[in-house]
Parts: sequence; C-alpha cells; structure tokens
Amino acid sequence: MLDDMIDHLEHLREQPVWQPMPAAARANFRAEPPLEGSDLAVVYEEFRQYILPYGSGNLHPGFMGWVQGAGTAEGMLAEMLAATLNANCGGRDHAAIEVERQIAGWARRIFGFPEGASGLFVTGTSMANFSALIVARTAILGAQCQREGVAASGARLTAYVSAAAHGSVQRAMELAGLGADALRRVATDHAHRIDMAALREAVAADRAAGSTPFLVIGNAGTVDTGAIDDLAGLAAFAAAERLWFHVDGALGALAVLAPALKPRFDGIERADSLAFDFHKWGQVPYDAGFLLVRDGEAHRTAFASPAAYLRRETRGLAAGSPWPCDFGPDLSRGFRALKTWFTLKVHGLHRLGAAIAESCALAQYLARRIAAEPRLELMAPVALNVVCFRYRAADADDVNTAIVRDLHEAGVAAPSTTMLDGRLAIRACLVNHRTERRDVDALLDAVLRLGAADRAVPALAERSAGT
Ligand SMILES: *Cc1c(COP(=O)(O)O)cnc(C)c1O
Repeated sequence: MLDDMIDHLEHLREQPVWQPMPAAARANFRAEPPLEGSDLAVVYEEFRQYILPYGSGNLHPGFMGWVQGAGTAEGMLAEMLAATLNANCGGRDHAAIEVERQIAGWARRIFGFPEGASGLFVTGTSMANFSALIVARTAILGAQCQREGVAASGARLTAYVSAAAHGSVQRAMELAGLGADALRRVATDHAHRIDMAALREAVAADRAAGSTPFLVIGNAGTVDTGAIDDLAGLAAFAAAERLWFHVDGALGALAVLAPALKPRFDGIERADSLAFDFHKWGQVPYDAGFLLVRDGEAHRTAFASPAAYLRRETRGLAAGSPWPCDFGPDLSRGFRALKTWFTLKVHGLHRLGAAIAESCALAQYLARRIAAEPRLELMAPVALNVVCFRYRAADADDVNTAIVRDLHEAGVAAPSTTMLDGRLAIRACLVNHRTERRDVDALLDAVLRLGAADRAVPALAERSAGT
C-alpha cells in the first residue's frame, strides 16, 4: 500500500484532475453490509479500483477550485503513525497532548499572540468560527448565559462582517441561537474589503436602536477574491467600541509566513480570536483547522464543564489539566497535531512561506496573462492567490458556467465559479504546492479553446449579423 501511494503521488500529472465515477464503480457502494470478513488484499483491491481513481482532484497540480490543500507525503506517513497510536486527544496525560500544546505555542509565535493565549485543533475554520463566536458571546453575557440561555439576558446581540464573508459565519450565528438576522453584512469597497465607514454607521445605528453590538469579524483573505480587510483598522475600531475582534483566516492567514506578504496582515496580532486552517495553505492533510484565543481563560470559561467521569488528578494518567476538551465541544478527538507537527518540522516555516509566496506569484502571472488577452476579462483585483476572470461573451454567465463544467469533465483543470456583483466568474484559487506555470497556462489555453467553440462565438456572430 505504501509503495502504491507514493507512486500515486509521483504520477499525479499523468492522471486527469478529476473524472466522473462510472455507474459500475458507484454501484459497488450500494452493496449490503458485510456479514463476514474478507481478506485485506481483496478489500484493498476494491479501494484501488473504485476509490483511488475517483478522488476530488485536490492533490493534482491542475486543481484550482474552492480553497483546498494538496497534502504531502510526510503528512500521509504521519497519519499512519497517528492511526497506529490511536490517541484520544480529549485529555489526560500523554505525549499527543504535548504535541498539540507545542503547535498552539508555535501558532502563538507565528501570529504574534501572547503567552496566555489558548489554541485548539478543530475540524476546520467553520468549527473554529462557531467556537470563537461562543467564546465571544460568553465573554459579553457572562458564564451564566450557559445556564440561563441567551434570551434571559434580554440583550439583542449583533455581529458585523463584510458582505464577502464565508457562509460559515452566518451558520455560526444560526447555530449559536443568535440568528442570521443579527449578523450585519457590511458593504465592501472597490477591492472587496469591508467599508469601515459603513461599519461605523451600522454599529452606531444598532446602538441607537437598543441592540448590543458584541462582535466584529475581519477577513484575512475572503473566499471569493482573497481580499484582506483592514485588520489594524478593525482592531482599533473593536477596541474603541469594546467589541470582540475575530479574524477568519481560513484562506489567507498562513501567508504571514511569507515575509513579503506579512505586512498585509498587520493587526491580526491584535485579534481576540483567530480561526485558520493548516489543511489549506499549510498543506497538512484533512482535517486540521485551528482556533487561537487571546484570553485563554475566556476560552476555557466558554467550554469547560465539570463531569465526574472526567475528574482531574495531580498525578497519574488523569493529570495534566486543563485538557483540550475544556476548550471546545468535542470530547473524543483524533491526533491532528501529529501530521501538523511533521509538516512544520520536515519543511520548516521558511519553506512553507516560500510555497505560499509562490502561489501568489503564480496568481499574479495568471492575472497578467488575462490582462494581455482581449478575449478574457479580469473580474477582481488579485490581492493574494485568487484570480477571478471570465471569457467575454454576450451570454457570459452561461458560457463560463459551461466552460468550467467542460474543463472538469475533460480533466484538464479544476477551477470553481463564483458570483461577483451579480456576474459569474471563473475562480482559480492557487493553494497547491504542486501547481506550476505550465498548469496555469493549460487552464487559460483550455478556457480560450472551449470559449471559442462554445456558444460565445455564434452568439457574437448573431449579434453582429443582426445589426
Ligand atoms: C474554507 C473557508 C472557511 C471554512 O473552513 P473549513 O476548514 O472548510 O471549515 C471559512 N472561511 C473562509 C474564508 C474559507 O476560505
């Protein structure tokens, strides 16, 4: 298996980025539960035939969709070791917990957080955003809100984020029982960053109406375009208004590892909490989201609960309090820290930063090629590693939708799409450390080919014939 998997990684380029699963392969997953066991070799052969060829493509250098990490061979090996240990990282006194504490310490150093800050692995930034919101809510209402419920406080809590926020922010408001309507989606400026004047007005209007503004969320890289909010401005505003300042850094925060990019994130070190993903630009295999909270005590207050069966001791296996389960909703948790520890130690922060800088350089190269090509249109400024563009056509939304579907099915490249100001864009998000100029060239060449053969040309011809 190990040999095959190393070969698989070595020969990714020779495979399509993605291919649809044939019905026969899919049918294999409709079988009844196995009552009797099979040989490991037989089950592995099924894996090779029906699972391995039909991945989502994010390992492949031609994958540019959504925001996905590409993993590494070292991460794969670390997963094998972690599975061997089968550590339960909810708590107790064992080495796996020390590894997680070390990663929290490194994250504090990377982002300039103080010693007292707490850190926790979670599934991803969706969970980290939700957890941060719970900490912020508990900090403003007091720990009694856990017993009495939010409604008992009588406060109408409101939160603020730019209209370009990730959907997990609204989801967090829904899950926390605060309601999506209490999330104010503040207008953005020409570069898709939060409009600070509009933010000020929204907070003032809510205060005047008797609501209680409690949380402002900054984007360290928006999901649509990679825009970075004015984090220093948000930090100052939050301090003046006594709001909790959370940063969603899922897409971009780790870019602070690249010295040339770091200044764009000034202010991130003043956040009350920061959510980010080692599994995106950090290239750690899924899943490896992380939450940092400046005030570790506030973090613990929001989640710790005294259960008799989780009694702490000062020695023996039940020592070592506080435990990770005191900082989040999960009790049983896997050893996500090990694959992260291996990745950071094997590559080093400088090399990870260089790979991130390279993604951004590729994005700039792609943007330059688009600007030089009259048949293409750049749809948003390129702040980081996301390039939004489209093929110019009369019915551009339909044409570009079809281009992306055709690209996926041809297995050449896998960008995604998004809507910007009501217009559909092809969105290339460069996260993969395996992606090179030739992959970006292949994407553009295929878009031009598909665009020309699509309805774009007849549509334009019809238009000129009609006039
Ligand atoms: C990916 C992403 C999220 C969600 O993170 P998951 O790890 O997928 O849960 C949140 N915000 C932004 C900006 C993202 O790019």
